[in-house]
Amino acid sequence: MERKNGYEIWDEKKIKDVFDYCENYKKFLTENKIVRKFIESCIEQSKRFGFKELGRYERLNKGDRFFKVNKGREVIFGIIGEKKLTEGCRFIVAHVDCPRIDLKTTPLYEDENIALFKTYYYGGIKKYQWLTIPLSLVGYVFLKDGSVKEIEIGEKEDDPVLTITDLLPHLAKEQYKKSIEEGFPGENLNVFVGTIPDKSKDKEKVKNNILKILKENYRIEEDDLLSAELEIVPSGKAKDAGFDRSMILAYGQDDRVCSYTSFTALLNSNDSVNNIFCILVDQEEIGSRGSTSASSSFFEYLIEELLEKSGYSITEKRKLFENSKAISGDVNTLFDPNYKDAYEPKNAAKINCGVVLTKITGARGKSGSTEPTGEYIAYIRNIFDKNKVLWQPGEIGKLELGGGGTVASYFARYNIDTIDCGTGVLSMHAPFELTGKIDVYSTFEAYKVFYLED
Ligand code: MN
Ligand code: MN
Repeated sequence: MERKNGYEIWDEKKIKDVFDYCENYKKFLTENKIVRKFIESCIEQSKRFGFKELGRYERLNKGDRFFKVNKGREVIFGIIGEKKLTEGCRFIVAHVDCPRIDLKTTPLYEDENIALFKTYYYGGIKKYQWLTIPLSLVGYVFLKDGSVKEIEIGEKEDDPVLTITDLLPHLAKEQYKKSIEEGFPGENLNVFVGTIPDKSKDKEKVKNNILKILKENYRIEEDDLLSAELEIVPSGKAKDAGFDRSMILAYGQDDRVCSYTSFTALLNSNDSVNNIFCILVDQEEIGSRGSTSASSSFFEYLIEELLEKSGYSITEKRKLFENSKAISGDVNTLFDPNYKDAYEPKNAAKINCGVVLTKITGARGKSGSTEPTGEYIAYIRNIFDKNKVLWQPGEIGKLELGGGGTVASYFARYNIDTIDCGTGVLSMHAPFELTGKIDVYSTFEAYKVFYLED
């Protein structure tokens, strides 16, 4: 299939819309680097667009806008349309969690007069990419009395940052000989957090000084770190990339790009005929097992609640699911001229050629793929073409090199037609990922069409 470059076919006015939209996108990325913050900010914004907590509705009627949040780490936004719920719904699901570095349960220790944090990496990272860069620590500490302390270090202009060291090249002769896996063991991802001793203490003086700072600034004790959700993420803003500013370099675009575009598309879908939903889930990068992940029953129970509040019986969810359509909004990879060998050029998505429709995910012989029916792919092609959406087919990479999956299977299992459709990304899972502005905007447009088309 011939791919069209958005810059070749869109006029100046449209390109301006693209760039304006991406200014807001960048700001949202910069301000919302972790799951809970991203979800909180979406909820705040949705309230300005007339969304209310689902619990506040006794009965649901056409045009009602609601949200329901699950434990602060998952949220579903919805708008009731003209159609009956059992005539089907439109779901777009994206994940808000991104690869990052988490603290171990007992993180703080001292070694050679340096205080460090032990960490676990979260999601599939290439560990060496996270060394020597400025890092922030963002998140919450949950105390036994039920109160919550917020911690954020490294995000403001004059904040200190944290970092993980790497071996100097002068001494790396042995490291160079190792495989990347062996050369960068996970247990070496220890974060430097301080070096000044507390002179009043006899031992572990530097560690004790850090504890003193934590107590003074946040009123937390060492044991409190056990019930913390603290994420170590790259410090710094989302930025334009390229002399022509055509790209965005930012942390966590997998998958906050599809989260942001599906959310803003929902906000901008007025007078919808369809019942439309934006579902933002957590824990995708670690296999979608937890209570706030795509495999949680939260989604199904919300549907039951909607049916009840709209005067249906719960058993009608079978009909609802059967007549529904879903997009699994997750990123795909773009053809990378630096690593041509990893891609099959005819089937790889290209930058600036629009949102990527992925028929096959999984690995090797489609293993793990949720391959949609031909009828459903034809339906999506048709509504995209009819509405001049810039889109392209894509695949994760050459066969047998690896592969990957998305949350599509957790919706397909309800017998909902589900297809993967999202933005192309370069350097996926790196501290800073690269996207094309045209592709971000076409994702927004594609999602809006999906919500609004009959
Ligand atoms: Mn990912
Ligand atoms: Mn993803």
